[in-house]
Amino acid sequence: MSPDLQQVLEKKFAEKYGREPTVVAYAPGRIEVLGNHTDYNEGYVLSAAINHGTFFALAPRDGAEASLTAGDIMDEVRFPADAPARTEEHTWANYVLGSLAGVLARLPAGSARAFDAMFLGNIPLGSGLSSSAALEVSATLAFARFLGADIPPVEVAKIGQKAEHDFAGVKCGLLDQASSVFGRRDSLVMSDFRTLEFKPVAFSPDVCFLMCNTNAKHALVDGAYNERRECCEKAARFFAAALDHPVSALRDVSWNEWLEHRGEMDDLIARRAAHPVGEDARVLAGVEMLREGDVAGFGKLMFESHDSSRNYFENSCPELDTIVDAAQAIPGVYGARLSGGGFGGSAVVLVDRRAVETASTALRNAYKNRHGDWIDPRVITCSDGARVVRG
Ligand code: ADP
Ligand code: MG
Repeated sequence: MSPDLQQVLEKKFAEKYGREPTVVAYAPGRIEVLGNHTDYNEGYVLSAAINHGTFFALAPRDGAEASLTAGDIMDEVRFPADAPARTEEHTWANYVLGSLAGVLARLPAGSARAFDAMFLGNIPLGSGLSSSAALEVSATLAFARFLGADIPPVEVAKIGQKAEHDFAGVKCGLLDQASSVFGRRDSLVMSDFRTLEFKPVAFSPDVCFLMCNTNAKHALVDGAYNERRECCEKAARFFAAALDHPVSALRDVSWNEWLEHRGEMDDLIARRAAHPVGEDARVLAGVEMLREGDVAGFGKLMFESHDSSRNYFENSCPELDTIVDAAQAIPGVYGARLSGGGFGGSAVVLVDRRAVETASTALRNAYKNRHGDWIDPRVITCSDGARVVRG
């Protein structure tokens, strides 16, 4: 969290609205560290809230109208405070409007109050660090405090997710919002997408992450994503019939069961299923390694995760492979893998803090040599989750 950013926001707010904000909330972005495409298979993910985020400030005003300003671009929208509705024109506002709708839905009718609001963030937009979740969660916390709604943390995450589904039109899982809500300094967040339990796992402060955004976006991402989901569902149905214990999702299938039955399945379905099944096993193994302080072992699991993406799930791409392949040979680097949906986007590299500069330079050079463009690795540390910081 950057206290400077909070000060800048409060100053901008005062300049625009002529008074101080009464409530300010903060929410960080997130990185996915281990556990890829496991959320919709009811499995496990290790993620972290990051040291970049969004501040959301507001103050009550008279009347029935609300004003909302995106402080980075100084764009303003106005709407009735008791009836936030989706807008086609200011798409950035939908994340906030949906969050307000979610808070109001948990309060008795007539609870709405007019306000002026402004937000400011330092997460690069659309780079795989989830600026959208940071915006939803910071807005939800600010509105909840302002309107006197006592909302449990899981519900805060769900309000953000619903805003993303219904207002922004993105059918995301709960990982981004839950990581932003449940993040803890020097810890990863262990998420269980069946029970919706989110627990901190201590993480060595001697290491950090380099997040490398390739800016690559490969065509047919939606089609490829849907194909992967369908294969996972088909595989779960196969295992439900083949195994003598209940299987409602790939979460219920062990790696040994996959090995034993893969020959009986369509080869493509088997290879797709290997990824979430293997990832669940790696996340569980990774949690144990972190408890024992085995950072090197944990990094190896990250490399294995990427191999699984590359070979079984086929959601990697040459740009991501370049970063992960280069990372294998850099001193001080423990592991690397793609982070998020894949088919482009970002790779996450686990590195000793003392090697950050040299590793970053080596990654930049490797990428430039192969693809002709520079990447800009960003230092990410595991940070505290969302909270109200004023009011
Ligand atoms: P990601 O969540 O990976 O950053 P998304 O496409 O899900 O990418 O969300 C990015 C969108 O969220 C932006 O295009 C914008 O509409 C909105 N947004 C998030 N943070 C801000 C901000 N600080 N200022 C303006 N818009 C923002
Ligand atoms: Mg997003």
